[in-house]
Amino acid sequence: MGEAWEVVRNGVLESAMGGFHGTPKVGIETVPIGECIGRVLACPVITDDDYPAFDKSMMDGFAVRSADCAAAGSRLKICGLIVAGRTTNTTIGCGEAMQINTGAAIPSGADAVVRIEDCEVDADSVVLRVAVAQGKNASRQGSDRRRGDVVLTPPLRIGAAQIAAAATAGAATLEVANQVQVALVSTGDELVRAGETRRFGQIYDSNGPMLSAMMREFGASPRPPSSAPDELEALIATLRNAMECPIVLTVGGMSMGTHDLVPQAFESLGVKWRFHGVSMRPGKPMAYGVGPDGQQVFGLPGNPVSAFVCAWLFVRMAIRGLQGFEPLPPRTVRVTLAEEIKAHRDSRPAYVPAKVWSDEARGLLAAPTKWSGSSDPFGLAEANALLCLLNPDTAAPAGSGVEVIPTTGGFD
Ligand code: AMP
Ligand code: MG
Repeated sequence: MGEAWEVVRNGVLESAMGGFHGTPKVGIETVPIGECIGRVLACPVITDDDYPAFDKSMMDGFAVRSADCAAAGSRLKICGLIVAGRTTNTTIGCGEAMQINTGAAIPSGADAVVRIEDCEVDADSVVLRVAVAQGKNASRQGSDRRRGDVVLTPPLRIGAAQIAAAATAGAATLEVANQVQVALVSTGDELVRAGETRRFGQIYDSNGPMLSAMMREFGASPRPPSSAPDELEALIATLRNAMECPIVLTVGGMSMGTHDLVPQAFESLGVKWRFHGVSMRPGKPMAYGVGPDGQQVFGLPGNPVSAFVCAWLFVRMAIRGLQGFEPLPPRTVRVTLAEEIKAHRDSRPAYVPAKVWSDEARGLLAAPTKWSGSSDPFGLAEANALLCLLNPDTAAPAGSGVEVIPTTGGFD
């Protein structure tokens, strides 16, 4: 197996999802715009009118004829007031001005607005302190978008700004990709749920809640996490149920231990593995396969940081492929190392929990958080990125450039 990036860039995940993208593979539904946050747009949004739909004032002030105001000092007769949302039948004649508020339609005859700060009102006249050019402080009808223009192009993750654009374009609902259903199964006899009584030797299941949260962050819909013991028949029963979903995640039981039964259990359900084992750290035991109905199956390693890294690198890509995005690994951002990273004896590409912060003088800096290895979720909780060390057997000096995957927000 090649290095991790090779696997994700050229490898089996893309081929499993078919070569093309742009159309979600999970179907489409119509959702009110107020409920679209985090969903993926599946059809273009088109404006129902010009925007602005009328010549609009950008300032509070006076609507004027620019021909009357070629020089500072013009005195104009005030012929009325127009506020946002209203219309007027009055036409501005020579030597006249109409008081106007921001967002109001510029009355006919006027071709510019002079801001109130540049005006002196004197009884029923206004004196302008400035010359006013044609079009000043006026937004022309259709100057931002024309009726029928595409304002949002799929696939697109919908945030607050996209909801505003859709509403501006007159869309009350949006066509979005159905949420990708993900089944989560934590495996291991040692696991109990947080809040339950724990016996000596047992641990709380942290991967179930973590992966569930990650699926939501990736815009998918996780089923409530289930758990299965290290016992073949029980495991098969749980996985059979999980395989109702197009994406199935198991965590734990993928290594070489006597009770690592997940590969075998999946095989008995008809899963064909595309790879098992990736040359990366952490995450080596990870496996990816396809079920008889095209289910994408991920066997994630049990250590929390390994599961986190594999979900970011691999599972996210599969979800995005089903949502209609090009199935690509997460984008990286180039930052500067704040401290040296010593050479590691292991040459596998490493993904290291790290903190990235903004320094006034040096721009974005990064340093690994303190973590004791892939079983330590506390160092991970202090990180906001994964440092990508593709050649970790070579030292990386402080001040050198390095790629990171932002794991809180970041660029799509
Ligand atoms: P495994 O991949 O099953 O060999 O597990 C590797 C390590 O991760 C073991 O120490 C497990 O106890 C631990 N582990 C496995 N699953 C979970 C989980 N769901 N939550 C927290 N730790 C886990
Ligand atoms: Mg286990």
